[in-house]
Amino acid sequence: MDFESYDVLVVGGGLAGIRAAIAAVETNPRVKVGMVSKVYPMRSHTVSAEGGAAAALRPEDSYENHAFDTVKGSDYLADQDVVEAFVREAPIELIQMEHWGCPWSRDPDGKISARPFGGMTTWRTCFAADKTGFHMLHAVFQTSLKYPQITRHDEAFVTKLLVEDSRCVGVVALDMKTGRFDAITAKSVILATGGLGRTYAFTTNGNICTGDGMSLAYRAGVGLKDMEMVQFHPTGLPFTGILITEAVRGEGGYLLNNEGERFLKRYVPNKMELGPRDIISRAMMTEFEEGRGFEGPHGKYLHLDVRHLGEKVIDRKLPFMRELGREFVGIDIVKEPIPVRPVQHYMMGGIDADISGATPMAGLYAAGECANVGLNGANRLGSNSLSECLVFGAAAGRAAADYSSAAKPVTANPVDAILWDEARRVEVAYLEKKGGSERIGAIREEMQHEMDAGAGVFRTKEGLQKLIERLGGLRERFGRIKIEDTSKTFNTELTSAMELDFMLEISQTIAVSALAREESRGAHARRDFPQRNDEKYLKHSLVFSRDAAKPRLEYRDVHIENFKPQARTY
Ligand SMILES: Cc1cc2nc3c(=O)[nH]c(=O)nc-3n(C[C@H](O)[C@H](O)[C@H](O)COP(=O)(O)OP(=O)(O)OC[C@H]3O[C@@H](n4cnc5c(N)ncnc54)[C@H](O)[C@@H]3O)c2cc1C
Repeated sequence: MDFESYDVLVVGGGLAGIRAAIAAVETNPRVKVGMVSKVYPMRSHTVSAEGGAAAALRPEDSYENHAFDTVKGSDYLADQDVVEAFVREAPIELIQMEHWGCPWSRDPDGKISARPFGGMTTWRTCFAADKTGFHMLHAVFQTSLKYPQITRHDEAFVTKLLVEDSRCVGVVALDMKTGRFDAITAKSVILATGGLGRTYAFTTNGNICTGDGMSLAYRAGVGLKDMEMVQFHPTGLPFTGILITEAVRGEGGYLLNNEGERFLKRYVPNKMELGPRDIISRAMMTEFEEGRGFEGPHGKYLHLDVRHLGEKVIDRKLPFMRELGREFVGIDIVKEPIPVRPVQHYMMGGIDADISGATPMAGLYAAGECANVGLNGANRLGSNSLSECLVFGAAAGRAAADYSSAAKPVTANPVDAILWDEARRVEVAYLEKKGGSERIGAIREEMQHEMDAGAGVFRTKEGLQKLIERLGGLRERFGRIKIEDTSKTFNTELTSAMELDFMLEISQTIAVSALAREESRGAHARRDFPQRNDEKYLKHSLVFSRDAAKPRLEYRDVHIENFKPQARTY
């Protein structure tokens, strides 16, 4: 990779990253934008989103309803000014997607179709069959190609942020094709690196979702917000963790226990299968604990039944689910129920950013799943994330373009020195290291199982303390890893080691934040503190890296406007 310098550098080629890049050049056509991605952009995790994107587009809906559903869904931890801006921008963004060629599914009258989704009080999840992310990512990707101002660096792995005088001035990236380290400088950087699902053993997330951007920001001193808030989706396929979209329940699917009972009547009687994800996941775990789950070769599961919908509806609206059933379970969902269980799916927490995507570090912005702009609080509603990537990706792109127009150019010094140090760090820690015996795969697997056990759907003080201790032990073992592949070309053993390094760090921030929040709110369910405690914890947590072993925590008030906290019942 050649030494490049940009006005705006976007790290991430998913929905948030590409939307940010387009917004930057639309804001100022003179802005030179770079986009770095560790995979070809169309392979970003966005591509696997199935169910849809939320926006109040239909006449029976309103901004206020979408805002209230989002705030209630968040268990009142969302910042309400952010939610307000989001619900107003989301319809504009989805229509923009239409103009960029996204093939939305349509009603007979030609309008964009919507389906109901968990925790939403009306039909507002717009979709393109059950491959919505695939179509949305294509639409933004092909649009980005028309801008000569955007230069892509595909298959470049960012290992460090370049920081000069407390300002972010670019990144150090490993060009995976050549094994060379390069500094890519920029007046502003937008992190849009996606989620961290691979810190867990059982997850819907792709292999590349390893929390890199969160770790990069954390190491540079930026706080991570609400890291205890990890979302578990109720319906993953046992063993693979492949997602069975919430759209299956949106279209009328039933969740059944081993007595053939729609058990959700005991937990979310008014919403049933359309309850929010955190509550349904807990209900399913409780059914398991009380002996009403099925036992399979890969643990306990329940049934998701769509047989009553009929073949025609399934083939028109859920064709991909039928394909997944056939290929990954060996069943035809038209004739048999689907085995499912709760699975790690999404990260509400992330890099501390404001409504424009600005982090507290000058020149550094964040958007999409890696960021926490305050939209999702303690529990994200399904289908808000794709819209979030568009709304806040665009906001970050605009803010970074404006900032870079006024910012000083980046100097070569100390960039050269940082680049040299970083390349040496990686060589010494991984490639030239002798005598190590620990395997990356073994440490990763242990970390993932510890995270499932200690920071899963339900948490306790003892479980979290044990997790922190175990993660410390794994960190120590990581210091003795052995890398056998020393080649320069696509050294995936090296990048896996660096991803594991990021994940060990991020897992620790989840565990520490979860231990400190002695209440239950949204996705964070403490068995030892089962109630929500607004007096003490109606606050965002912020975790900072003091030293690797001991993160530091702070709290910040939640921005409350129209919707005062109430009991969250459905
Ligand atoms: C199976 C599945 C289904 C989903 N379905 C829905 C849905 O129906 N509706 C909804 O709203 N949400 C859904 N979600 C959530 C939603 O898809 C994601 O939150 C969203 O797509 C994340 O987009 P992103 O742009 O933030 O990140 P991603 O799409 O994950 O992209 C991250 C980018 O960062 C790059 N990157 C990461 N680390 C580095 C590094 N070190 N160096 C260089 N580049 C790096 C990657 O290459 C990639 O391009 C789903 C998620 C999953 C897993």
